Amino acid sequence: MTLIDQFHRPLRDLRISVTDRCNFRCPYCMPAEIFGERYQFLPKPQLLTFEEITRLTRIIVRLGAVKIRLTGGEPLLRQDIERLVSMLDALEGVEDLAMTSNAYLLPQKIDVLKAAGLKRLTISLDTLDDEIFRKMNGGRSGVDKVLAGIYAAEKAGFSPLKINAVIQRGVNDHTVVDLARFFKERGHILRFIEYMDVGNKNGWKMDEVVPAREIVERVHAAMPLEPVASNYFGEVARRYRYVDGGGEIGLICSVTQPFCGSCTRMRLSPEGLIFTCLFATEGVSLRDPLRAGATDDELEKILRQTWGDRIDRYSEIRNSLTDEMRDQRKKVEMYHIGG
Ligand code: SAM
Ligand code: SF4
Ligand code: SF4
Repeated sequence: MTLIDQFHRPLRDLRISVTDRCNFRCPYCMPAEIFGERYQFLPKPQLLTFEEITRLTRIIVRLGAVKIRLTGGEPLLRQDIERLVSMLDALEGVEDLAMTSNAYLLPQKIDVLKAAGLKRLTISLDTLDDEIFRKMNGGRSGVDKVLAGIYAAEKAGFSPLKINAVIQRGVNDHTVVDLARFFKERGHILRFIEYMDVGNKNGWKMDEVVPAREIVERVHAAMPLEPVASNYFGEVARRYRYVDGGGEIGLICSVTQPFCGSCTRMRLSPEGLIFTCLFATEGVSLRDPLRAGATDDELEKILRQTWGDRIDRYSEIRNSLTDEMRDQRKKVEMYHIGG
C-alpha cells in the first residue's frame, strides 16, 4: 500500500545530503562570515557511511521513493562519491539517480560518475557575469570553472543538463536574459529559483526575492515563451518553452507560488536525520537506532511513522508569518540538507 502523509502526499523522492562541507561560500546559503576557518563541520565519525546510506535508501525505496538525488553541501567533496553512486545504482526500484553540484570539481570526476551509473546532473550557476558570480560564491570561483564542469558533463553525455540559478534582486536579476540565451543555445534546461528563506543565516528579506512572474516577463520580452504542462505529479518547476522551439526553462517559485500540495520529497542529512521539509526545525534520527542495532523492519517503522505524521507546508504559510515569527523559527540550513 502506498505510504501517504496527513495531506495524502506520497513519498516519491529522496534527497541525500552527503556532506555539510562546501568549497563555495554562497551568501544565500553559507555566508563566509559565519562559515569561516573556525566553523565546526560534522566530524567524520558522525557522517553516515556509504553502506549505511545504501541500507537506509533501500528501505526508503521500498516505501515508495523512486527518484534519488545526491546533494550537500557540495557532494563532490565527499571522498569516493562515485562508490556511493554505484551502490545506489545497484538498488532495485531506483528509477532515477541524479546529483546537484556546483561543478567546480566536475571535470576530474565526471567520467567515474558516469561509469558508476549517475543518470542526471543539475549544475548551479547564478550568472555569467564573472564579477557578480564571484560575489555570489564568496570569491571561491570564476564562471570559467563552472563552465569547464558543464562542458565536461556535456562531453560525457549528460545533456540536457539542468542549470539552477538563484535570483536575488539587485544582485543578479539584470543578468537573467544573458543566462537564458546562453543555455538555450547549448540546449540545457535553465531553472530560475526564487531566493528562499532557508535556514537562519542568510539574512533573507522578502524584497530581495524576484517573483518568478517577473523573471518570465524579462526572458519572454527577449525570447518569447509559452507555458507547458508539468511532466508528472510533484514536479517542482513550472515549465515554459521557447515559442521558436529552442527548448525550455523552469521556474521554482517556492516563495510566490508554493507547491507544498504536491511535495513528495524526503531528505536525509549527512549524519542520518530524516527531514520532511526544507524548512523543518528538527529531524528524526535514523543513525542512532541503526548504530544501536535496529533491524530493517524497525527502521522502516520509524520511517513510516515519520512520513505518516507529516503535515509540513511551510511555503504555504510563510506569508502569514511576521518577520519576527520567521526569525524565531530555527530552521535547518540548506547546506546541511541540500536543495
Ligand atoms: N552545492 C551544490 C550546489 O550548489 O549545486 C548542491 C547543494 S545546494 C544547497 C542546492 C541548491 O540549493 C543550489 O542550486 C543552490 O543554488 C540552492 N540554494 C541554496 N541556498 C538557496 C536559497 N537561499 N534560496 C534558493 N536556493 C538556494
Ligand atoms: Fe555550497 Fe551549494 Fe550552498 Fe553554494 S549553494 S554554498 S555551492 S552548498
Ligand atoms: Fe515541501 Fe516544505 Fe517546500 Fe512545502 S515548504 S514544498 S512541504 S519542502
